[in-house]
Amino acid sequence: MNWPETLRLEPSAKLALEDVVNSNPFLGNWIEGEAYANNHQAREMGRILIEAFHPEIQHARIAYLFRERMQTKGTVVHAKAKRAGAQLKHLADIDFVLEFNWTAWRGLDTVARAALVDHELTHCSRNDDEEFCTVPHDIEEFHTIVARWGLWNRDVKTFSDVLHRQLELLPA
Ligand SMILES: [Zn+2]
Repeated sequence: MNWPETLRLEPSAKLALEDVVNSNPFLGNWIEGEAYANNHQAREMGRILIEAFHPEIQHARIAYLFRERMQTKGTVVHAKAKRAGAQLKHLADIDFVLEFNWTAWRGLDTVARAALVDHELTHCSRNDDEEFCTVPHDIEEFHTIVARWGLWNRDVKTFSDVLHRQLELLPA
């Protein structure tokens, strides 16, 4: 498995992530007419990744769901994370709902699936009052703006620095 060099994760946890894909059932065909299905693989990957990288949500109750397709304004959306509303929290004891695009998930390898689950878990956190909350992305930007204006603010600069370090690690 091509785990990134920069991924600080115990070898046993990497093996466990690989095992998730082999040992959890994956819905081969979408069930006609169903709005949602359970994403068992994401749930098991989530357990491993929360322990390693997201201690602040270790007690959060998280639903991992599939939708057959997800897109916004014609663009494919791979997944999204939201805090459960009061009604859902009351009825189902859930703090966060993570939705994954089943059609897109099928085309992702194990590393990309784990990165996607980690991404969605990064949206889940706690605020200063210890209440669960969601966190927005570090940057929201257009590549055309960066092409025109360069690293014009601190967030873009930080993102660029991280990207630069990753590019240096790529085999020539
Ligand atoms: Zn996101």
